[in-house]
Amino acid sequence: MRRPLIAANWKMHMTTAETREYITEFLPLVEGVDDVEIVLAPPFTSLAVAAKFLKGSNVKLAGQNVFWEEKGAYTGEISPLMLKDVECSYVIIGHSERRQYFGETDETVNRKIAAAMAAGLDVIFCIGETLEEREAGRTFEILKRQISGGLRNIKPDGLVIAYEPVWAIGTGKTATPEQAQEAHEFIRKELNSLYGDASEEIRILYGGSVKPENIASLMSQKDVDGGLVGGASLKPDSFSRIVRFKETEGG
Ligand code: PEP
Repeated sequence: MRRPLIAANWKMHMTTAETREYITEFLPLVEGVDDVEIVLAPPFTSLAVAAKFLKGSNVKLAGQNVFWEEKGAYTGEISPLMLKDVECSYVIIGHSERRQYFGETDETVNRKIAAAMAAGLDVIFCIGETLEEREAGRTFEILKRQISGGLRNIKPDGLVIAYEPVWAIGTGKTATPEQAQEAHEFIRKELNSLYGDASEEIRILYGGSVKPENIASLMSQKDVDGGLVGGASLKPDSFSRIVRFKETEGG
């Protein structure tokens, strides 16, 4: 049984003071939730303050990116050990915004995943097709390429996949539950051919305009094991309602 995981990607939002306020408001809203794993990914500058205020809670921390070297002359970069040092359990790797604006490729993503895992971080590995690729009927081909390139020589332990169709990120256009399931099922088959039975443990999150109103129907799909949430994670009330999706379902 895969335990659902709901992660907040704050992107380039929140000062340290806003982070503290958010967490103070958020923790009581998710108190006692233990059937869903909850993860916050603040910007690097807020990680230490977030770690301090999340201590002893049911909420884990993630970095939004990482570099593959341990240390050295890499101005502006952050190492896996630095993320561990501020108590991150996870790191998001290969987000489409990193691929689009910062030149990340399947190869650099693969190096990052390997380094993060070697340091003991769990990885939320993002994949997804653009609108142009979907309309050209290339969705599965793109996912297959991203998976085989990104996961070359990577073990399945500590691996989480986030399927984020680029056309659904920050656009208000959510994939239908059926579109999400179709892609997730394909991803699970690819994972099965890489990892065999161990692939059954890998959670596949959906990301792209997830909101309190659509999370339950997405989560009702067989291969949707959680969500990676951008815009709707920026308010404690809205993110807590996403985390508590089972209650909005009536279950
Ligand atoms: C994201 O960036 O990971 C994301 C899914 O954003 P949004 O929820 O705003 O579409």
